Amino acid sequence: MDKIVNNRIKLEFPSKGENVALARITIAALVSQQELTLNDLEEIKVAVSEAVSNAVIHGYRHQSDGLVTVIGILQGEKLIIEIIDEGVGIPDIEKAMEPAFSTDPERTGLGFVFMQSFMDEVKVESKVNKGTKVTLVKVLSNENKNIAVS
Ligand code: ATP
Ligand code: MG
Repeated sequence: MDKIVNNRIKLEFPSKGENVALARITIAALVSQQELTLNDLEEIKVAVSEAVSNAVIHGYRHQSDGLVTVIGILQGEKLIIEIIDEGVGIPDIEKAMEPAFSTDPERTGLGFVFMQSFMDEVKVESKVNKGTKVTLVKVLSNENKNIAVS
């Protein structure tokens, strides 16, 4: 990767559904400062949307007065995103991350599955009644990745 971009942003917003798009677009704009494939960009957008939706829907149970913080850190080819809420927390993280597990019978329980398949690393830290922090890491593809340099 020729271009090295280091940058960092912090977004804070109330837990309203319409702010999911705001976070997605902001992270997309941040990562677009770096060279990346359209495929990576689309995957990052989906992962951010899933994590922020979870903060709004589950963390704050659809109440719009919660605080959601999204931090985006671009370190060359590495993108780190933190999605933080101060909501209800997750009692059993391992169970919550199982495919098709949801505490809401109306939902499919695939948010964490998407995050894990689209990002290189997904870390969840949570405490009941304190909140949840999801850390997503993606190493952006380099088109020359598989070409040996002679
Ligand atoms: P989908 O994402 O497919 O609409 P879902 O949100 O239930 O369904 P996941 O995103 O995989 O599925 O999340 C699984 C479960 O983890 C949720 O049902 C919820 O119980 C819990 N969870 C996820 N994020 C949070 C959060 N920020 N705060 C509290 N609970 C959470
Ligand atoms: Mg979800």
